[in-house]
Amino acid sequence: MKSHAQVVVIGGGVVGCSVLFHLARHGWTDVVLLERDELTSGSTWHAAGGMHTINGDPNVAKLQKYTISLYKEIEELSGQATGVHVTGGVLLAATEARMDWLRGVVAKGRYLGLDLEEISAKEAAELMPLLDPKQFVGAVRNSEDGHLDPSGVTHAYAKAARKLGAEVERFTKVEDIVRREDGLWRVITNKGEIVAEHVVNAGGLWAREVGRMVGLELPVLAMEHMYLITEDMPEVKAWNDRTGTEIIHAVDFDGELYLRQERGGMLMGTYEKANKPWSEFSTPWNFGHELLEPDIDRIAPSLEVGFRHFPAFQNTGIKQIINGPFTFAPDGNPLVGPVRGLPGFWSACGVMAGFSQGGGVGLALANWMIHGDPGADIWAMDISRYGDWASMRYTNAKVRENYSRRFSIRFPNEELPAGRGLKTTPIYDLLSAKGAQWGVAYGLEVPLWYAPEGVKDEFSWRRSTDFEHVANEVRMVREGVGLSEISSFAKYRVKGQGAEVWLDRMLACKLPKAGRMTLAPMLKEDGKLIGDFSLANLGNGEWFIAGSGIAEQYHMRWFEQHLPADGSVSLEAVGQKLTGLSIAGPKARELLSKVTHADVSADAFKFMDIRKLDIGMAPCLVGRVSYTGDLGYEIWIEPEYQRHVFQVLLDAGEEFSLGLFGSRALNALRLEKNYGSWAREYRPIYGPLEAGLDRFVAYAKDANFIGKAAALSERKDGGKLRLRAFVMDAVDADVIGDEPIWFKDEVRGWVTSGGYAHGAKVSIAMGYVPKEIAEETDGFEIELLGKRHSARMQAAPLFDANQGRMRG
Ligand SMILES: Cc1cc2nc3c(=O)[nH]c(=O)nc-3n(C[C@H](O)[C@H](O)[C@H](O)COP(=O)(O)OP(=O)(O)OC[C@H]3O[C@@H](n4cnc5c(N)ncnc54)[C@H](O)[C@@H]3O)c2cc1C
Repeated sequence: MKSHAQVVVIGGGVVGCSVLFHLARHGWTDVVLLERDELTSGSTWHAAGGMHTINGDPNVAKLQKYTISLYKEIEELSGQATGVHVTGGVLLAATEARMDWLRGVVAKGRYLGLDLEEISAKEAAELMPLLDPKQFVGAVRNSEDGHLDPSGVTHAYAKAARKLGAEVERFTKVEDIVRREDGLWRVITNKGEIVAEHVVNAGGLWAREVGRMVGLELPVLAMEHMYLITEDMPEVKAWNDRTGTEIIHAVDFDGELYLRQERGGMLMGTYEKANKPWSEFSTPWNFGHELLEPDIDRIAPSLEVGFRHFPAFQNTGIKQIINGPFTFAPDGNPLVGPVRGLPGFWSACGVMAGFSQGGGVGLALANWMIHGDPGADIWAMDISRYGDWASMRYTNAKVRENYSRRFSIRFPNEELPAGRGLKTTPIYDLLSAKGAQWGVAYGLEVPLWYAPEGVKDEFSWRRSTDFEHVANEVRMVREGVGLSEISSFAKYRVKGQGAEVWLDRMLACKLPKAGRMTLAPMLKEDGKLIGDFSLANLGNGEWFIAGSGIAEQYHMRWFEQHLPADGSVSLEAVGQKLTGLSIAGPKARELLSKVTHADVSADAFKFMDIRKLDIGMAPCLVGRVSYTGDLGYEIWIEPEYQRHVFQVLLDAGEEFSLGLFGSRALNALRLEKNYGSWAREYRPIYGPLEAGLDRFVAYAKDANFIGKAAALSERKDGGKLRLRAFVMDAVDADVIGDEPIWFKDEVRGWVTSGGYAHGAKVSIAMGYVPKEIAEETDGFEIELLGKRHSARMQAAPLFDANQGRMRG
């Protein structure tokens, strides 16, 4: 075994082998994989070997498509058979709500280049002869589904990597990992030690144990999972003989089942409701090629549905039930990327669909290590979407919920119950008493809307019970003044002698003067967005930044990677050590003037001013800015004062009929201002010009901000895309994101977000289209719930286009 390597990959399952292969293929060959046993000794060997392209997140779907396209190539490179069979498949719907969901999947597939087609239940039965068409209302045909040999694929990755110069050490168990003073890692094994620049945790079932070696408690949990294999079935033989083809894959969402042919019989697996975690606290090191005891009672309710939906199963025997564990993150997507605070330590774990996702995970990680960027938008599987709040118990609750809902529909207005009430602000009970309906962002409870007694969300693809109440909240803001809680923003304090120079390099904007704020895009080296913030200069070398709450860990990782080593900059993510309230609407100034002695008149406290002032008796930091696009103020308060400030505002607001508004109203308000938001309109695949943030980029400033050269060339060549707002001819439903945008009968773009703008009383969609058609106003259509709706580009904001209200 070598004593030094550029990269040590821990774990010889499908994911570790894919990472190794991708590193070698992209030019890093001083890489070694350590496996404590034979390759495939975790969850990989007993997988059902199914693969599919669909995923709730379109960017993950793209990587799944890449994974599937890779198998032939690694087979050729390695000479090792992967057993890949692309049979195609059907996705089945037993209810209309499911069919609506599937139509959304087909629509998304159009701009992802997936070959999906809506078909009738009868047509599905012609493709998959075992199903009873009477049990279904419709289906979707997917040509890219299939299955493979899990062991063959894993060995093919490993052999191909070896041919490219990588090494694999089997029966080599990593027992400890220690960071040296010089930043290199000592990887201590039962066979000696390797010093490495980078370490990848691809420990699968033991990812938690490997994480613990460096002080990490990773949010992953293994669940037991069962599938059965039948005896040979005459129906299968008859089909094979008649057509010369295998029986294709089927996913029966309402039965929560997946099926495929296995030799002369069938394989049927299920994500049962009464699920069971495996090894909740730690995974035994002596677990290897064993299977778990099957528990047929647990899967019996699903099988009952399966046997009804696929009657031929009633006449066959079950040859074997496989029960094996595999790991999940709380939302079911992988945990990939550099780990904040541990330079050179990388995560490639929590991969629950290794044969659909392993290739994409390997590619993204290799890109990231070699080029400093994953090369794709992988936010949905970035490990930084979780913070310390994703504790072991939280993970346990969410993983169980996610497993039991693997095939369930999640409606756009549906909030999930597990792992809730974890982080709350001091006014949580006061807002609840006012009817707050809660959502969650980065573990924190956030008010979505305020419901009268007895009213709550009815889950639907269409406008629902909240519609008129959110409309009232919007009206209150636009006609008077509304109050909302904004604690879920991420907040950062930056100070120190080097702070100004550092911020000038990190952020693409011109830095504001003392007492002023600005919008601050942050770019990567390739000139794409990695953040959008509001930046405030508090004077005396103190800076305050507010940004997307869900991206706190993501941004801290980036900030910390770029901090000067001399300690001249101090940076803190303030989290809930600072809570927030916002007041907005034409009467907001009058309200503020009632609760403070400070001069907040239009001339004394201008748009984008920020200052410390008292509200009631409490010291606050108040900025004159509002995401509602109206006259408004953001008020930052230490948590011990939040109740006081809230009550003072409510009391003083009575004469203005002040009421509360939630994030759904805020969404409606920002849409009629054409304001985008992080993780929707602004993502790391768009340049500032494309995203319409170029007006905040100080191309001419002296500082050589990160991404400057690339941003200048984007400005010169115009980039490829443009973010646009559309008014949509929608009747009873609005877009949620990821719908295709048609132009003259071709899919040319995609929606990033949208909703009903209650102020303007229109349905709005925001999304990207190629720049060549970005100045067109007509000829657009947006596909929603299987129908194309005409859409008109809305260049000027529908509310306060001249900004008189906001700046006045
Ligand atoms: C019953 C069942 C059916 C499934 N069906 C499918 C399917 O149809 N399609 C699909 O895509 N996925 C399926 N899966 C999931 C799939 O198996 C996993 O996504 C995949 O195996 C994850 O691979 P991995 O490499 O991350 O982890 P693992 O396979 O667990 O590999 C981790 C490896 O790391 C090694 N290791 C850990 N710690 C150390 C250490 N300290 N030192 C050295 N080596 C170490 C282990 O020995 C192990 O070999 C199924 C899983 C089960 C259980």
